Amino acid sequence: MMIRTTFQEVKLTGVKNVRCNMCSKKIRRQYTPFQTLSPFNKKKNGEVKTRNDIMAELKEKIEKWKKEEERCKACIAKLPRLRYSAC
Ligand SMILES: [Zn+2]
Repeated sequence: MMIRTTFQEVKLTGVKNVRCNMCSKKIRRQYTPFQTLSPFNKKKNGEVKTRNDIMAELKEKIEKWKKEEERCKACIAKLPRLRYSAC
């Protein structure tokens, strides 16, 4: 029998209500970063991250993400599809 250790995930969900940077339509976005609470998830000083350490980092990530500009689906569809061109 194999013993599997599962580590707990620490998640945090951020929501933002912004306007599309092309057409100003209101959009709502959600983002859920997570990290694992495990002996391998360490801080720069080598200490194992606690739940609070992880939460602080997730909050920071969300704050950064909140400042990013967003575009609605319609505007994304209107953009030239450079990335998908096959030839
Ligand atoms: Zn738009």
